[in-house]
Amino acid sequence: MKIKLHKGDLPDGLSLGPLVAIDTETLGLNPYRDRLCLAQLSAGDGVCHAVQFAAGEYAAPNLRRMLADPAVTKLFHFARFDIAMFRRYLKVDCKPVYCTKIASKLVRTYTDRHGLKDLVRELLGIELSKEQQSSDWGAAELTEKQLAYAASDVAHLHALKTALDTMLAREGRTHLAQACFNFLPARAELDLAGWEEIDIFAH
Ligand code: MN
Repeated sequence: MKIKLHKGDLPDGLSLGPLVAIDTETLGLNPYRDRLCLAQLSAGDGVCHAVQFAAGEYAAPNLRRMLADPAVTKLFHFARFDIAMFRRYLKVDCKPVYCTKIASKLVRTYTDRHGLKDLVRELLGIELSKEQQSSDWGAAELTEKQLAYAASDVAHLHALKTALDTMLAREGRTHLAQACFNFLPARAELDLAGWEEIDIFAH
């Protein structure tokens, strides 16, 4: 996959079409402690646009506009986390969204393995390396290996969505998936507001 690195924001005037695959890299899993370091975006054309953030520099008007654009569906794997990070750092309500992990849970009921690596292996026959997952994403200069890894996380989301959409239609669960996707921005807001560990639908 081809990688274009941008410091602080997407270039002016760049459009990535109606369906944009997105992933983020952070310093950890706690949105209050661990800052957003990188956002990777792809139109599904083999090019990854990686936006690198310096600490405290989250103005990014072009990226924020795309994330909030109602005409652009943001395609994630485990959207809940990325949406919360965008909300916390970019102060943006990221929607509409599609999440391959939720789609997988609604159709691949024969397994409890819904990691990106598992999905890409089973549905696309591709082996993903997770070697660089735990590395210093806050570094001023990211390594070639880190950037290649970051890009690989958005490289297959369009193809995964196509495969999962077919399965959702086959099982009559497209509407349930859509309802879950619609709720995701509120779920991320609940996470940030103190309900992270609580299932609000539980008894
Ligand atoms: Mn990633």
